[in-house]
Amino acid sequence: MSLNKTIVKVLSTGSKEGSVVYIGTGESSILIDAGPAKKNIKKFMLDNNFNPAKVDAILISHEHKDHCGGIAFADDYKIPVYASEGTLKELKRSETGKIVKHLKTFILDGLRQTFISVTPVNVMHDAAEPLMYVIQTHDTKISVMMDTGTITKDMLSAMAMSDVYILEANYDEDMLANGDYHDGLKYRVSSDTGHLSNAQTAEALNSLVRGIGEHIIITHMSAKNNTPELAEQAIKLALFDKGLVKNKHYKLEVL
Ligand SMILES: [Zn+2]
Ligand SMILES: [Zn+2]
Repeated sequence: MSLNKTIVKVLSTGSKEGSVVYIGTGESSILIDAGPAKKNIKKFMLDNNFNPAKVDAILISHEHKDHCGGIAFADDYKIPVYASEGTLKELKRSETGKIVKHLKTFILDGLRQTFISVTPVNVMHDAAEPLMYVIQTHDTKISVMMDTGTITKDMLSAMAMSDVYILEANYDEDMLANGDYHDGLKYRVSSDTGHLSNAQTAEALNSLVRGIGEHIIITHMSAKNNTPELAEQAIKLALFDKGLVKNKHYKLEVL
């Protein structure tokens, strides 16, 4: 087996488009979430020269449609699906899926050499039993956090010392407050089990990023309540506080 450098690519993100993240290490590859329709997941993979027939596992964060709308992709290629017990139940995959548990680090079947370990961590979101995943490959530690309303201590400590951080920054607080969402939806988005604001994500990155060339990828931005510029500004300011400068100490991509 060739131990190539780990490739991490967010193939798609957003509550309309759906989220899917690719992590590949030479011969082995996994997806986190399968939000877009299966034909689109296939297309995104081929567009990036990734082989859809060579996916070894799919890890699902939670049952919302923008994270598992294309889960049938797994059946087409006979790929095992890993998720929490609660998520598998919602997906009606309790029989076939592989159950993972909060902070119980495990090894993906057959991938011991390249995907060293996976640690699922409970997140705070209005779904049955949502998780984030921290992946350690032979050369890279990757934290993939999908929807959450709060960043807990467990999440922070599991993510510590990552090389790649994939985090959501869903909304700007002022844009959400002054926008045209009805009050119930505003409350849902900003609640402890909704989504993260730019400020919350920036604060977490302030405590996580050490400035040794980490790669930060910001996802799941609201089209109505955020702009890439505002998200980027919030994160840059939070990291300036630690004396860290974009492209010198860290890389930042806002999708
Ligand atoms: Zn979502
Ligand atoms: Zn969700």
